[in-house]
Amino acid sequence: MSVPSVTAKTILFWISIIFLGVMLWKLNFSKPDQTIPYTEFLQLLDGNQVSEAHAYLSANSVRLVATLRQTSRTVGTMVTYGVFSELTDRLRAGGATLRISEERAGDWTIFLLNAAPLILLVGFCLFLMKRVQSGAWRPSQTNPTATRIGIGYDLHRLESGRTLVIGGVELPFEKGPVGHSDGDVLAHALCDALLGAAGLGDIGTHFPDTDPRWKDANSLMFLEHAKKLLGERGLAIEHVDAVVITEKPKLGPHFPKMREALSQALGVAADKIHLKAKTNEGVDAIGRGEAIAAHVVATLAAR
Ligand code: MG
Repeated sequence: MSVPSVTAKTILFWISIIFLGVMLWKLNFSKPDQTIPYTEFLQLLDGNQVSEAHAYLSANSVRLVATLRQTSRTVGTMVTYGVFSELTDRLRAGGATLRISEERAGDWTIFLLNAAPLILLVGFCLFLMKRVQSGAWRPSQTNPTATRIGIGYDLHRLESGRTLVIGGVELPFEKGPVGHSDGDVLAHALCDALLGAAGLGDIGTHFPDTDPRWKDANSLMFLEHAKKLLGERGLAIEHVDAVVITEKPKLGPHFPKMREALSQALGVAADKIHLKAKTNEGVDAIGRGEAIAAHVVATLAAR
């Protein structure tokens, strides 16, 4: 996710926290520790226990919140305007400080509760705008059902004393590919085609030839890993078309086994894998039997 959208999220989060904090503060503002009847309040007043009082004036009544001398606890009571005048005199006579203000807590609560959906909606719209501007939604604008095509190519030198493995099948031949793994040229090109179609780099990204874990590794393992990555991205293999180029040996008779091995590694039906063989007509290194190469095109579709 891009930085602007993270910033927008953070701002929205803190706005929500501050908003909730203000709302809670206003709800609890001037709330006494204990609410008592008026008669009990008078007793406290007569006993000279009130050190400070705050009167909140509303339309029809006055809410009194008083702080007690001994304990600093606050008590609250409601009085009518009829007795309020006399009460102020008694408070002052008792040496208590008196503050008078308008009752606003209710107004604030109503305002905040009504404004909450609007504030959240505006915040959410700003958040969406940031996301669209930052391009974070770009992937969802692509057609999820679109076909993806990848191309893969590989070449290995052939040397005596190496085992020839093509498409996961060992073939009887006097030469084999030089490579860090088993040198399966078809599996490597196929792996690159799949990763390319999925936009996941290439085989070297996932299985570097400097890693001792892949020394003489069975290349079908690379295909199994590629299949897992495709699955995680909701991509399925639609079709694989491959050409293996080598002068010798004849590959056609081994294709059924290769298709079986590859289809098992990729978890797809064998009829989705199409293999072809070519020679290089005696031309260049492949033609002289010094190398083997493969080209693969893979087609993927969203599941
Ligand atoms: Mg290779």
